[in-house]
Order: sequence, then structure tokens, then C-alpha cells
Amino acid sequence: MRLFTRELACQELVELVTAYFDGSLSRSDRRRFRAHIKECDHCTAYLEQMRLVIEATGRLTEDDLEPDAREDLLAAFRGWKESR
Ligand SMILES: [Zn+2]
Repeated sequence: MRLFTRELACQELVELVTAYFDGSLSRSDRRRFRAHIKECDHCTAYLEQMRLVIEATGRLTEDDLEPDAREDLLAAFRGWKESR
């Protein structure tokens, strides 16, 4: 499994997730986003977490992503990468 060589890296996906949910991704980015989600369990789990946040708060903005939480997430992605 070489997930991190794919066209859309996990870190990019993290950056795009709010745009994905508010519908502001371009069509091609959205396609890449979905293609990545389909094959990446980690990002599927992340997206699911974001969905829960939206269900709980009714919205998702950049402000809802705490900088610390984002750092933790990116650290987790790095951890996954190193464990492969
Ligand atoms: Zn991923």
C-alpha cells in the first residue's frame, strides 16, 4: 500500500475537507477528493469524524477546526505513514 504517493495526499485532503463539506471545491478537486477517500481508510475515518462534528454543531467552518486538533491529526497521519 503506497497511499501517500497518490495524487491527493492525506495532508491535502485535510486542507480541503471544509471546502468539501461546504461545496466550494471545484469539480476536479471534488473528484480527486472522492477518489482518495474511496481508497484511504484513514481519511474515511477522518471524514466520518468531521461529519459527526457537523451533525453536532450543524456546520463546519475553519474556526471549528482547532489548530491543535489539526496538528494532532496531521501528526496522526505522519504516524500512520511511519508505521507502514
Ligand atoms: Zn488519505
